[in-house]
Amino acid sequence: MTAATLTAPPLGGPTLPQERRLVTAIPGPRSQELLARKAAAVSAGVGHTVPVEAIAAGGGVVVDADGNSFIDLGSGIAVTTVGNAHPRIVEAVQAQVAQFTHTCFMISPYESYVAVAEALNRVTPGDHAKKSALFNSGAEAVENAVKIARKYTGKPAVVAFDHGYHGRTNLTMALTAKAMPYKSGFGPFASEIYRAPLSYPFRDGLSGPDAAARAISVIEKQVGADNLAAVIIEPIQGEGGFIVPADGFLPALVEWCRANGVVFIADEVQTGFARTGAMFASDVFGIVPDLITTAKGMAGGLPLAAVTGRAEIMDASHLGGLGGTYGGNPIACAAALAAIEAFETEGLIERAREIGGILTERLRTIQAADPRLGEVRGRGAMVAVEFVDPATGAPDAALTAAVAKACIAEGVIVLTCGTYGNVIRFLPPLAIGDALLNEGLDVLASVLDESRTDSEPVLAGDDAPTPTAD
Ligand SMILES: *Cc1c(COP(=O)(O)O)cnc(C)c1O
Repeated sequence: MTAATLTAPPLGGPTLPQERRLVTAIPGPRSQELLARKAAAVSAGVGHTVPVEAIAAGGGVVVDADGNSFIDLGSGIAVTTVGNAHPRIVEAVQAQVAQFTHTCFMISPYESYVAVAEALNRVTPGDHAKKSALFNSGAEAVENAVKIARKYTGKPAVVAFDHGYHGRTNLTMALTAKAMPYKSGFGPFASEIYRAPLSYPFRDGLSGPDAAARAISVIEKQVGADNLAAVIIEPIQGEGGFIVPADGFLPALVEWCRANGVVFIADEVQTGFARTGAMFASDVFGIVPDLITTAKGMAGGLPLAAVTGRAEIMDASHLGGLGGTYGGNPIACAAALAAIEAFETEGLIERAREIGGILTERLRTIQAADPRLGEVRGRGAMVAVEFVDPATGAPDAALTAAVAKACIAEGVIVLTCGTYGNVIRFLPPLAIGDALLNEGLDVLASVLDESRTDSEPVLAGDDAPTPTAD
C-alpha cells in the first residue's frame, strides 16, 4: 500500500472543484496500473475511451486517481444528464439501500416502481391513457417493446433504419445497423428484421416528406404492412452520428404507421429526459409515439429502463409475459424519482437549450474558418460535428479519432460516433457551468488548429488530396 492509496478519494457531486487540471501525463501512473490489471482480468472485447481510473465525478468534471480533473462533455454516454452524484440522487439511494435492496417486483411489489411508472406515463408525449413496464438496460427495453408490439398486432416483422443503434443483445444487434464493432462475428441474428433508409439531410439532400416517401416505399415493397408489427426509430440517431431528420420525416412515418396498424416505437434511450431541450425528442418533432423506450438519462447513473405507451398496447401481454428479476430495482427506482424531480424542478430543460446554444454557436464559428467541419447539428445539449475531407465531402474518420484523442490528452472528455466514425458528439451533463463548457470548446478549437498546421498529412491519411483549407 502506498501512501496515496490510503488517502480517502474526494467525494463526487457538484462540490468537486469545477476545473480542468492536468497534473500528470494521461494516463498517469496509477491509471496505468489499473489499465494493466484491466488488460489481464477483463475481456478484451470491453474497450474504454478515456484511459484513466475514475474516482470521483460531479457537476462538469471527472477526477482520476492521479489527481487529474477532466471536463466532461460525454456524461458517460448521456447518462449523468442531471450531473454525476447529484445530491438528490445520493440521498434517495442512500435512504433506499438502507431500507431494502430487492424483493423482485414480481414477488412483492413496492411503491417506488409504481411511482416511476406513473411519472413516465405523465411526462412522456401524448395525453392518452398510458402504462409502463421497467427493465434494466436500454437493450432490454427495446427487446420488450418489440415483444409487446408483436403480441398486440399478432404480426412478426419489425423495421429499423439505416444508422440505427438499439443495443448489443441478439435482437437489438439485429436492429442495429453498424457491423463493426457491434455485430461482426456475433450472428446469426434474430429474423424478421428489415431496414429502411433514413432521412440524413447532410448526405441525402432530401426533404422530410421525400425521405419518408422513400422509406415507406421500401417498407411497403419489401415487408408489407400486413406483416409488420412495428417501426422502431431513434428520433435523433445517437451512435449513428446524431443525425437529425429533415422536418416532416418523423410525422409522415407516424401517420403511415397509424393508417396501417403498425406500432410506432420511438427509441429515446439516448435522446430522452431533457437532453434535446425538451423532455423527449419526440416533443421536439411534434410526434406522439405508440411506445417509447427510455433508459440512459432516467436514473442519474443507476441502471433502469422502461417501455411506456398506449395502455391497450402495453396490456396486450398475458399475465407473467413481461418482467425480469431485477427490472425496476428499488434503488434504481429511488434514483429515477429523484432524477425526474430534478428534471422538473431545476430548470434542466431550459439549461439544455442554453448549453445547446453555446455549443452550436462556438462550433459554427470554428466551422466558418475550417471546412473540415462538414456539418454542426443537433438539438439542445445533444450536438455533434461531422468531419469531412473538404475537397470531396468524404467522411474523415482518421481526423475525428485524432482530434478526440488529443482533446482527452488535454483533459476534455469527448466521444465519437457515426456510421463512418467521423462524428464528435457533445453530451455534457446539464450541471456543467458555462466557463467549463467554454474552456472545453477552447481546447477543441486549439486541437483543431494544431491538427491543421502541424500534422495534416498524417491525420488526413496517405491518399487524401491536398487540403483546400488555409
Ligand atoms: C445506448 C442505447 C441503447 C442500448 O442501451 P443499453 O443500456 O446500453 O442496453 C438502445 N438504444 C439507444 C438509442 C441507445 O442510445
